[in-house]
Parts: sequence; structure tokens; C-alpha cells
Amino acid sequence: MNKQILENIMTDYNNKRLRAARSCDVRKQKLYEQFPDLVETDTQIQLLNVKLSKLFLLKPDNLNEQVLNLKKEIEELKNKRKDIYKKNSIPLNYLEIQYECNKCNDTGYLSDGKKCSCLNRQIINNLYTMSNMVHMLDKENFNTFDITVFSNEVYKNEKLTPRQNMYYILEISEDFCSNFHDTNMNLLLYGSAGLGKTFMCNCIANALINREISVLYQTAFSLFEIIENHKFNKQNESEENRINYDMIFECDLLIIDDLGTEVGNSFTNAELFNIINERLITNKKIIISTNLSLEQMRDTYSDRITSRVFNGFVPLKFYGKDLRYKN
Ligand SMILES: [Zn+2]
Repeated sequence: MNKQILENIMTDYNNKRLRAARSCDVRKQKLYEQFPDLVETDTQIQLLNVKLSKLFLLKPDNLNEQVLNLKKEIEELKNKRKDIYKKNSIPLNYLEIQYECNKCNDTGYLSDGKKCSCLNRQIINNLYTMSNMVHMLDKENFNTFDITVFSNEVYKNEKLTPRQNMYYILEISEDFCSNFHDTNMNLLLYGSAGLGKTFMCNCIANALINREISVLYQTAFSLFEIIENHKFNKQNESEENRINYDMIFECDLLIIDDLGTEVGNSFTNAELFNIINERLITNKKIIISTNLSLEQMRDTYSDRITSRVFNGFVPLKFYGKDLRYKN
């Protein structure tokens, strides 16, 4: 089944282009029925264009003169066509094919061969559908976020109550979403388990996906599993794994949940640095969530990583009583 992810997506793109071309044909037919003058001008323009290309093949002595004359004639006809459009309030691009995505004309790829953002979104949507992510995002989003579950009593020696703190985190998170394309903010969500970090990640993911931004969510454990499979098991790598691997670097936002639960070694350390570095350089955003404290992060990861994270990320500390046992 996995082998067909990209194939199915590409078939969708083909169908989209066919549909766009077909509906353009239908518009043309209707327009011609209504305005026979247009048929006349369009046919003439076509004939003159054929004549023009023939001239370049034949290369007669007075080539330049003839070309100029023909171009003038074509221009006049085009103006005549424009007038008909204007007089009847027809949009000038009415007979252009209208693609869903203007960046790639529904091919999925840009002129430089890179994947279009719409293709990345399609791919990730497919990955989400295959995982349980879709149902999760339905349940956990800014609309279902309930601030009242956080206590409004002073907690240890924190200045803000957990609820006040959560208002602050909520504000930063919503800000991160609404200014996604203009900010160079990355987020580090840290604090003990059961305080709503994953919930907040899902809220952000959901808000951005609804705005057609590609978001890849992975736990640190599965992230490194994907990388390991890609690097050490190339022969048997599944398509799903390869696509996931590419998306780690290409998606608009990468969410690494539960950093610190992976089996840490020099390999995972180097790969983590590579991901953070690559994405910061290409101005692609990252959210890291971890149960580790800032001190524990310093102890667990190399200086290269921690200095990258502490410089490029806004730290958001989650604290309070574990919410998981409340209900
Ligand atoms: Zn596109």
C-alpha cells in the first residue's frame, strides 16, 4: 500500500489538470456561442500566428517587414478581442486554464524541480491519514483547549499561577500561528509530563494545517527511527519512510515531540544537530517539546545543539500539577 502514496497523489494532480482544462473548454464553448464575433477574431489570430511561424521557416528577403506587418495585424485583432471582452464585462483571463495552485499549475513541482508546498501538504495529509494524527487533531485544537483545567493557585516559587502561565503560552502559540510566515520564532515547550505540551503542539499543528501550511509531527523516538531506517536500511526502506525522511527537512513546520525519550547516542546527537541546523538555515520552523528541564537538556545534548536551541527558540515552561489524573 505504501508504495502507492506518491503515485496516488500524482494521479490526483493529473486529474486536477484534466478537470481544469476541461472546464476551460466548456467556458470557451459557451463564450463562443454567446459571442460569435470572438470565434472570428480568435480563428484569425490563430491563422496569422501559423503564418508568422511559417515566415521564420521560409526566411523571405523582406522577412522583417512581413513580420512587422503580421505582428501589427495580430495586435489589432487582440485589441478588438479585448474590446469585446470589455464591452461584455468578461474577465480578460476568462479563457486561461484556472489551476488550483498557481505556483505549480497543479503539477506538484516548481520550475526548479523542487516540490511545491501544495505537494508537501498532500504528502503530509496522506501520512496523517495513515497514522492516527487526523483524529487527534480533531479533538485537540485551540477551540477545545480548556484553560480552566489549569489551577489558578500559586505553584511552588513560580511568579505566575499555572493558569496565568498558560494564558501566556497560549498567546505566544497563537501569535506563532498568525505570524507564521513573518516570524523567525521557534518554540521550545518544556516541563514535566502531563501538563499539556502535546496538546499545545496539536493545537498549533491544527491551526496551521487549516491554513494550508505543511506540518510534520513526529515523536523523537519515531523521528530517529525514520532517520535510522533511511541511513542504514536503504535497500528495504519503505516509501512511507523515505517520504517521512524528506519531509523532516522540507515541511514548513517540524514538531519534535517528547525529545529526550529517544535512545540517545552520538548518532542521534549528530542527526538532531543536523536537522535543527538545516532547518534554521533555510528558515523553516521547528517546535520541540520535552520533559527535560533546561539543565537536563544541557547535560543530555552537545553544546552545539543546546546553544542552537537556546539561541533560536523561545522557551515556554509548563508547570503545575499533572493533569492526566484529574479526569
Ligand atoms: Zn502547487
